[in-house]
Amino acid sequence: MVQAEAADPGSTIGHFDVLIVGAGISGVGGAYHLQQQCPDKTYVILEAMGDFGGTWKTHTFPGIRSDSDLYTFGYRFKPWTGPPIATGEEILSYMGEVIDDNDLDRHIRYHHSIGSARWSTEERRWTLEVTRTDTGEEVRFTGDFLWMCQGYYRHRAGYTPEWEGMDRFRGEVVHPQTWPDDLDHVDKQVVVIGSGATAATLIPAIAANCGHVTMLQRSPTYFVARPNSNELADTLRELDIPEEWTHEIVRRKILHDQEQVVRLSAEFPDLVREELFKGIRAILGDDYDVGPHFTPAYQPWRQRLAVIPDGDLFHSIAAGDASVVTDEIEAFTESGIRLTSGDHLEADIVVTATGFELSVLGDIEFSIDGEPLDFSDTVGYRGMMFTGIPNMVWVFGYFRASWTLRADLIADFVCRLLHHMDGRGASMVTPTLRDEDADMDLLPWVDPEDFNPGYLTRSMHLLPRQGADEPWRHTQDYWSDKDTIPAADLDDGTLVYD
Ligand SMILES: Cc1cc2nc3c(=O)[nH]c(=O)nc-3n(C[C@H](O)[C@H](O)[C@H](O)COP(=O)(O)OP(=O)(O)OC[C@H]3O[C@@H](n4cnc5c(N)ncnc54)[C@H](O)[C@@H]3O)c2cc1C
Repeated sequence: MVQAEAADPGSTIGHFDVLIVGAGISGVGGAYHLQQQCPDKTYVILEAMGDFGGTWKTHTFPGIRSDSDLYTFGYRFKPWTGPPIATGEEILSYMGEVIDDNDLDRHIRYHHSIGSARWSTEERRWTLEVTRTDTGEEVRFTGDFLWMCQGYYRHRAGYTPEWEGMDRFRGEVVHPQTWPDDLDHVDKQVVVIGSGATAATLIPAIAANCGHVTMLQRSPTYFVARPNSNELADTLRELDIPEEWTHEIVRRKILHDQEQVVRLSAEFPDLVREELFKGIRAILGDDYDVGPHFTPAYQPWRQRLAVIPDGDLFHSIAAGDASVVTDEIEAFTESGIRLTSGDHLEADIVVTATGFELSVLGDIEFSIDGEPLDFSDTVGYRGMMFTGIPNMVWVFGYFRASWTLRADLIADFVCRLLHHMDGRGASMVTPTLRDEDADMDLLPWVDPEDFNPGYLTRSMHLLPRQGADEPWRHTQDYWSDKDTIPAADLDDGTLVYD
């Protein structure tokens, strides 16, 4: 095997034990775990962009920050020492430290966009055809195991629905994912369409400088307004407890508390809703009617509760810099947006915080032994490997809990699987339905009743299915995965080795 460091970044061929796709938080974490747990394995990270960070590099809109806390969105192995909700820049600097401290950079090939991935059973390897986005050169990498850390959405551009009359609107329409550096919002009338975490982040960041910002939502989202600090972390730091301990203790406390919220949300949704409203009323005043604008039709925790650090969104509303309108768009006009209620919103700038384009497997064309792969024909093994696809894992994190919790769990699983294969002398592992799985019900990749953001429901037909029984379920439940994934029996007959 070629050692990773021996492969010249400009070479047309390099063979590695493990090929990692993407240098976002999952790919960088994967590389760390692989290096720690399987130090003899050679690997390379192929990244289409010119730098690491993925999501945190792509999104540059004002105020870009996490919507979950960094004690759990940060890695298990790297203490988080800042405020719980972090800016994009802070997350990039944290990831940069992981890369520097562990000498990961020499394994990353930037500007390498993978166009196709071919598995050959005869050769027992993956072949990736890659275009260098800086030089246009075509290069090829081969590897024994493919670790897909490409995230879940297309990085080039976000999703903007087509509305009638958009072409006659005289102002600017901007998607937060492709925010122009030179966009001048000062003193402008801005309408932000959407009320997800992106809208809630962007609005307080621009509200004070704009003429006015309106958050236009079709339906409300749950928000948790809370101080951007963690009392327990502050106490532990006062006691001079080592940061590693503080990270682990605070992480456990947050996960424990979240588990209670999940349970309470299922058993007593009204109580949880009331608690969330209390935080909002504390800023907007008891007279503010939270009903129309902040009461979603779904139960709390069906989607991740977006944290509003220090309640900044609500302070912008209280100051009169921002307001919320819950209505539907009928059409764009020359000067704004006409709503189905008959109202009209004047706008110089319309920001479409309307979500993502799902990218199934990084828009890479896959084939298995010469046959094009239809990913939707496969069944997921624990939501991370897929029937009929040998030697491949996809990191699809959590939506309700922090994504990275699952990236860490999957990384441990991959390392255990690689050791197991070596122990058995196997060069190939393929998830395969057993005879007893033949009659199992097959369900959508995620339960649409349980989790239904637009980009998933629009594209569910492109995604693998999950089985009704273990180990084919994809529960999106950290609290069960944390026990079941490390305990997974690698010889239960569902993973076929050769
Ligand atoms: C604005 C925003 C805020 C978010 N906040 C949170 C949060 O607070 N908490 C949370 O849990 N989740 C959050 N998420 C979800 C977030 O995307 C994930 O948590 C996480 O960052 C995903 O990391 P990743 O490494 O798996 O994928 P990504 O960050 O998407 O990175 C994937 C990388 O793979 C590369 N890639 C893709 N295809 C190819 C290819 N064909 N060839 C080569 N390279 C390729 C991309 O260029 C990219 O760098 C947020 C998402 C957004 C958009």
